[in-house]
Amino acid sequence: MRNFLSLIFAFFFLANSFGQTLEEKRPKLVVGIVVDQMRYDYLTRFYNKYGDDGFKHIIRNGFSAENAHFNYLPTYTAPGHASIYTGTTPSNHGIIGNNWYDKFAKKSIYCVDDNSYKSIGSDEGGEKSPKRMLTTTIGDELKMAQNQRGKVIALSIKDRAAVLPGGHTADAAYWFQGKKEGKFITSSYYMKNLPKWVVDFNASGKAKNYLNSTWSTMYDINTYTESMNDNNIYEGVFHGIKSPTFPYNLSKLKKKNGQYDLLKTTPFGNSIVKDFAKAAILGENLGKGEATDFLAISFSSTDYIGHKFGPDSKEIEDTYIRLDKDIASLLTFLDKQIGKANYTLFLTADHAAVQVPAYLESLKVPAGYFDKEDFEAFTEMVVQEEFKLRADDLIENISNYQLFLNKETLKKNKLNLRDVSDVLVNRLVEYKSISKTVSAYTLQNTDFDRNILNRLQNGYHQKFSGDVLLIPNPATISRARKGTTHGSGYNYDSHVPILMYGKGIKKGVLKRSIAITDIAPTIANLLNITPPNSATGTVITEALKE
Ligand code: ZN
Ligand code: ZN
Repeated sequence: MRNFLSLIFAFFFLANSFGQTLEEKRPKLVVGIVVDQMRYDYLTRFYNKYGDDGFKHIIRNGFSAENAHFNYLPTYTAPGHASIYTGTTPSNHGIIGNNWYDKFAKKSIYCVDDNSYKSIGSDEGGEKSPKRMLTTTIGDELKMAQNQRGKVIALSIKDRAAVLPGGHTADAAYWFQGKKEGKFITSSYYMKNLPKWVVDFNASGKAKNYLNSTWSTMYDINTYTESMNDNNIYEGVFHGIKSPTFPYNLSKLKKKNGQYDLLKTTPFGNSIVKDFAKAAILGENLGKGEATDFLAISFSSTDYIGHKFGPDSKEIEDTYIRLDKDIASLLTFLDKQIGKANYTLFLTADHAAVQVPAYLESLKVPAGYFDKEDFEAFTEMVVQEEFKLRADDLIENISNYQLFLNKETLKKNKLNLRDVSDVLVNRLVEYKSISKTVSAYTLQNTDFDRNILNRLQNGYHQKFSGDVLLIPNPATISRARKGTTHGSGYNYDSHVPILMYGKGIKKGVLKRSIAITDIAPTIANLLNITPPNSATGTVITEALKE
């Protein structure tokens, strides 16, 4: 009798603990936030300007990795978002750029273009799918682990920053169509019609209100002591005005700056994404079901503003002060709607950015500009000297610092791919703004385990990448002298925040170096699911409660 009772007791105990493992242990909602082009040092540099409820709240009550890096190059938006959510690098997921030369189709392609689908919610801009991403995301694994229960929704200003995070099985990905439309749209990959809450949001007049406002600094501009003078020669200027200075009257600027596209280069582009994320949580009842839901949010305006004005501008300082408020507003909303103890959030960036190289030059820091035409002239000279051929015949395409050789020309001239690559590797490194050159052959036959060649190797996809790969000098970009960009494997592009917060997350600070690809396996472990199918990152054990 006693044995029988203890058996019954053990049975209930087990049943109960299983119940806890699967349902109570998992958060009701996971929120992934990507801040496009956010350098790690924006957290520290503007720290005293932030309120208590935004970034600081996450850092004080959650987990912050101080040395998180992208472990591959190129550090662009599409590979960034794909790598965060798949837990692996372009060498596996296949998203090797935003655009790249497709050597099979013999044309340049855009990462999420897919003509087999049509635009939903507008006449154009929605012909997208994640088909070029070869591996699964956390969202895909979560859906499969829950037998397709639980919703996965992704949203952003940029199509690629919604389509790739959502993965292959997402219920929806939405992005912002600018021009004269000013609304969130999607692709027929996901649905036939926009749900009512999206239609209502688009009709609410929110985008219009933002576009008719003025962008002034949040606080007195004289208190913005973390950035350079508002009027300087390193910043881009909106069309129709003379200087890159506050205030920006958007209703006056909109006509010459692409109508609703203007919103993208203002902090209001982030604010409307925040508004839309709240509408998605309500409209889709996220965090209210039996299963765990997933919401991927990507704030893109930080990137547009960073490109135009650079990391040291008053515009960037104000953008982060305002983003901090948008994040605070989102956290308050999540606490109320989902409940403090019921969601898990992570925040990171898809890449960072370099200071404006012209500004670095003025500080005597080595920096510069890669002049593609000049480089092509140099290449022409090398190819004629070495092979008695025209560069156009030997090299099919030069893009993303990669050379794609013409295999037919090689065959016709009885040239060997490896020999030609070796000659180009040896000669092109002579070019002034190039610091390293490597052949695809070397990348296939050597394991680089450290430094920038390791990052290059992680970004190299045997099937899709070029035959000769170039690494420009530090702080050297391919762009006009005003504003800046990203894409390299140097620390200014690779060092980003990784913050985690909420259910299952331990409070703390991590000094050890970790990689961007560690996020997905960590979230998978927190959810007790299989990591994305090609994840190469490792679990950040320090971030997780026992
Ligand atoms: Zn980006
Ligand atoms: Zn960018």
